[in-house]
Amino acid sequence: MLNIRAHHLLCTSNFVGEGYSDDFSKNMTSVINLLKNNPKVKLKASVDDICKKCPNKFGNFCKDSDKVIDYDKKVLKAIGLNAGEIINWNEAKKLTCDIIFKNDRREEICGDCQWNNLCKEVEKERLK
Ligand code: SF4
Repeated sequence: MLNIRAHHLLCTSNFVGEGYSDDFSKNMTSVINLLKNNPKVKLKASVDDICKKCPNKFGNFCKDSDKVIDYDKKVLKAIGLNAGEIINWNEAKKLTCDIIFKNDRREEICGDCQWNNLCKEVEKERLK
């Protein structure tokens, strides 16, 4: 089972190889490949298996904890799940897609993220 913080349901959908560092991007790619097998995931509002190689992680904390925990909480509220819940990855993805992406609500959750413009480009391409 993988630990996935809730807002990473958004990041994994829009990831195109760019990240905070090479190690981060490599780890993110590995985690995304594992998620393709539809494992059970524990949803979190704290550091997870993607944060593991992030240069912004210090011990068990993200340097942007306040901001990213807020993103986690907004995603959980939108899809009607709680931190600590265990769910199949594809089910969580479907909820995220149906409730957040299809209703164009992604920016409402993380519009102030440094990657927002890249995410917007990826989303525009996806609609073509
Ligand atoms: S910035 Fe924070 S939430 Fe995002 S991957 Fe790094 S440690 Fe995790």
